[in-house]
Order: sequence, then structure tokens, then C-alpha cells
Amino acid sequence: MSPQQINSEENPFEAMSARFKIAADKLGLEPGMFQVLLTPDREITVAIPVVMDDGALQVFTGYRVQHSLARGPAKGGIRYAPNVHIDEVRALAAWMTWKCAVVNVPFGGGKGGVICDPFKLSKGELERITRKYVARIMDFIGPDRDIPAPDMGTDGQVMGWFLDTYCNYQGSYVPAVVTGKPIALGGSAGRIEATGRGVMIVTRQALAHLGMNPKQSTAAIQGAGNVGLISAMQLASIGVKTLAISDIHGALYNKNGLDLDLIAKHLAKARNLDGLTCGDRISNEQLLELPVDILVPAATENVITSKNANNIKARVITEGANGPCAAEADQILDSKGVFVVPDILANAGGVTVSYFEWVQNRMGFAWKQQEVEDRMEHIMVESFQSVVGMSKRFQVSNRIAAYILGVDRVADATRRRGIYG
Ligand code: GLU
Repeated sequence: MSPQQINSEENPFEAMSARFKIAADKLGLEPGMFQVLLTPDREITVAIPVVMDDGALQVFTGYRVQHSLARGPAKGGIRYAPNVHIDEVRALAAWMTWKCAVVNVPFGGGKGGVICDPFKLSKGELERITRKYVARIMDFIGPDRDIPAPDMGTDGQVMGWFLDTYCNYQGSYVPAVVTGKPIALGGSAGRIEATGRGVMIVTRQALAHLGMNPKQSTAAIQGAGNVGLISAMQLASIGVKTLAISDIHGALYNKNGLDLDLIAKHLAKARNLDGLTCGDRISNEQLLELPVDILVPAATENVITSKNANNIKARVITEGANGPCAAEADQILDSKGVFVVPDILANAGGVTVSYFEWVQNRMGFAWKQQEVEDRMEHIMVESFQSVVGMSKRFQVSNRIAAYILGVDRVADATRRRGIYG
């Protein structure tokens, strides 16, 4: 699929660029700097030939985009999905740049993707794809160059293969080349739940800011993966009742609240919500429009668009996913007074703990879970306050405020480094 085949509202890179342009304008960014910050530093496309279980040779396509290296090595996950598109990877890489700058961790932004369906591949095929992908991007990654992590369709096991392949090529143990690893390989305590816990922390701050009581608040969560399910469970820990949760096929809704422990146990075995009877079956579209206080889109891009933004009833949207709101939906949500905690702040708990993992690997010393949690909480609360402060100062939405904060920090680093050559 060529970039032209994604329509404009659905093109994630255009969605990112639209917000970037507004922020750049508010900051009075000079035209040259505007170009530098919008253009990815490096894009790599690789062929990944793999012998499948049936003996056939199949060639997969992989990408790694390094959007900006101004504030440090590129940082960002690797996505395995059948519809991975270069414009999506570009957008996700840029979002990582702004996200790392918003929470002020010393990284640039990157993202990788492989066009494949992890649900249809055997474990052996997944491992061979991963190892070949690493071999093909080997020269561009490393603890001081580019540090991948999990994203949609990848997990700790994929990171384990990633680490092993890299270490085999290097001839030495280099745990800081990748984060989101199993703890046995140098992963950090608290990394698996970090994104969901960060979603809870910023939601709690948003409720306090709006004078809402979490114990009297309800939520709908789109997505039952690592981010969605853990967000629901973390929100429960502050008294928020989750009424609906979904997987890619549809949602489960109970107006009195869902039994999250039961759902978690079921998901650990089945990986989808099929067969659960603790709620009514509704569609993913219906879930988004439920009369709840908090909506957490934690699945994929572009689920809230100009078509359904008017029907959203939640007072708070916390973006667990990257890019769940199309740029065209922003104004509609603003005019309805929806308090949006934007992706580059809301889901930054994950990369924040990835940063801690990288720090621990480089020190050769592992922190206790409590230390990881306390440090992450501090960063998330402070970043939330900075974004709300920017929104007041520039009289803009939280989303544009977060872009202003992130873009300004990257522009500042770029100016101080100067343009070499
Ligand atoms: N994939 C996650 C994200 O989009 C985590 C990235 C990381 O930890 O580097 O933020």
C-alpha cells in the first residue's frame, strides 16, 4: 500500500503534522527549524526473508524510523501487524520524540514495524522474523544509537530474541540495547504495568483538576491488551468502576461494573473476550459513545474521528494508545469541553520506565519495584502539571500544550547542538 492510499484524516503522519504545525506556529518556530523537526532523521526499510514452518520462503518488510536524535538516542517500540504502513511508523516515531521530550527523558524518538500477523505465525516463525529483522537493522541500533522496545504485537519474549541476536553479533552482553525485556534478562521491575499505571496517574490528576471524585467515576476502556487491561485494573485501585472493555472483535458492557479479575484470568488463557458472560456484547463503536465519565482508547489510531467525536459523552479522555483521535476530532472535542489527556503525555509511563530500565542496565544495578513506581509517579505528575500550565499560558488545548512543551525542548536541543557540516 502506498502512502496515497491512506485518506487524509486517517493518515497518522498527517495527524501528527497538523498538531505540530499549530504548536510550531504558537512557538514562532523559524521555517528552517520547522523543516528539521518535521523531517525524520533516518528511515530504514529492510527485506526479511524467512523460512516458514512449511518450508516455503517468505519475504516480510520491516521498517525502523529514527525521527529525531537531538536529545539523545532514538527510543521507541517495534510493532508487528498486518497493516503496518511507513507513514504510521513515521508518525509513531515522531510521537516518541515529543513524548520523550514531554516527560523530559534524554531520548529522541524512533519506531519500528514489521508487516506480519503475529496471531497467525508460529512461535518459531516469530523468532526467525525477529532475529532476521535485528540482523538487518544491526548497524543502526545500540544503547547510544537507538533502543527498541515492545509495541502492538510484540512482547518481552520478542525483546529477549532481539537482545540475544544483538549480543551474538556484538560478541558481548549489551542489555541496554532494548527495553521491555523479561526481568531475567535485565528488564525493569514495573515495566509491564508502567503504561497502564501512567494512564491511571494522569487520569487521577485530571479528575482532581476537574473536581471529580474517582470513587464516583465510571470508565470505558477500548482495548484489552497490556495497556487497556492494566489501565482498567489500575483505575480500579483508585475506585474508578470500569463498565466496558473491548478487544478487536467487540466490547463487553455491564452498567453495574465489570469483574476485572475474571476478565484478566480469561484473557491470560484465551487472549480475547469470547465466551465471557459477565456483560452484554456491544460493538467497539458503541463503547466509545457510552455515558461514562472517563474514556480510555487504548487500542489503535484514529478511533475518534470527525464522524463520532460529537457523540462522545465522556468528560475525560485519557489516550492510552498512540494517535487514537484524528486531528479533525480535536476541535469538536474541545468545543464540547472534553478534557483530553493526550497520548504523548497519557501513555508516557511506558517509555519513562523504559528509560529507568536503560539506566539500571548501564549501572548494572536493579531497582526495587517501589523505587521505579515512585520515580515514575513523580515524572508523570510533574509532566501533567507542565502540560496544564502550558495550556493556560498559551490558551490552547492540552494536546497542543503537550506539543508546545515537547517541540520547544527538541528545538532548544537542536539549536544548542547547531547544524553540523
Ligand atoms: N511502545 C511504547 C510507546 O509507544 C513504549 C516505547 C518504549 O518504551 O520505548 O510509548
